[in-house]
Amino acid sequence: MQGMRFPGRYVQGPGALARLGREVAPFGRRAACVVDRGVFDRLAPTLSAAADGAFERFDLVRHGGECTLDEIGALAEAARAAGAEVMVGVGGGKALDTAKAAARRLGIACVVAPTIAASDAPCSALSVIYRADGTVERDEFLPRNPDLVLVDTAVIAAAPSRFLAAGIGDALATWYEAEACRRSGALNMFQVRGLPLAYQIARSCRDAIFAFGEEALAENDRHEAGPALERVVEANILLSGIGFESGGVAAAHAIHHGLSELDDVHHCLHGEKVAIGVLAQLRLEGAPEAEFEEVRDFCRRVRLPTRLADLGIADAGGEVLTIIARRACRPGEIVHNEPFPVTEAMVVEALSALI
Ligand SMILES: [Zn+2]
Repeated sequence: MQGMRFPGRYVQGPGALARLGREVAPFGRRAACVVDRGVFDRLAPTLSAAADGAFERFDLVRHGGECTLDEIGALAEAARAAGAEVMVGVGGGKALDTAKAAARRLGIACVVAPTIAASDAPCSALSVIYRADGTVERDEFLPRNPDLVLVDTAVIAAAPSRFLAAGIGDALATWYEAEACRRSGALNMFQVRGLPLAYQIARSCRDAIFAFGEEALAENDRHEAGPALERVVEANILLSGIGFESGGVAAAHAIHHGLSELDDVHHCLHGEKVAIGVLAQLRLEGAPEAEFEEVRDFCRRVRLPTRLADLGIADAGGEVLTIIARRACRPGEIVHNEPFPVTEAMVVEALSALI
């Protein structure tokens, strides 16, 4: 069996948030809009103005900061009390994941508007649920992708460039992991094999970040939603989102999970750890030296880490590498989507080349 899944609609451009009324109103007359607390004060006036006249009721809710079961429950309750027919999430990953999970509990439409392009999570049918202490509780797989993804590139260009660079790291993994799954016949995120289109989308994701990554970061430094930034935002959010979900994931993200076991790396963004995962995956796969160097040099050009020390892992001795490898190689873990058997010793060896 083969398949793909997509967000219902995707709209991207500078000033996209100003279209919120016209884009969201077809989903319902009453909307609840949860906004990341980091951007609430800055974006609330824009959102209210954009919603003006388009809804019977439009409630702005300040997000609490974590995507916990309590936060999801409270948002769902507030939206239910307001009779909301559509849930809107605005912000970074945790605010969007809270909106997605709350919309699912109510069985209403879901719109997400990412304010950074730091990962490929916005388009996906997945919420990562955290505990109050910031550790991961579980992944919640949703029956539907967001009905609409509204991406305001002027807002993304106003955010620090480090977020865009991290998103490039996450997008870099997409093709290498999908390709591993294609070769092994491994199943994708919803347990079928990807259609050929999934691998083509993953390939165009890689091509776009290689061609436009550096220039997009320069535009982001100038807080300019230029043509290169538009291409990279499309790659980081849409192409990578479809590519990972429909193509499948493999060693790079498994090694990310391993790295996340270490206290040293908690200040790092998801995509920064994933970039190290990609380089380790290439070593694990025995990629030709020229290919490894091409990817490593690209990472340097787009400000991504290329060595464990760059992530802040001060002492990458055998013990530390074993902790990473053990987590990465758990039974049933995605590292086993690679087209050959992977052992802890092989992961330790691949990571040793990145000290
Ligand atoms: Zn990722």
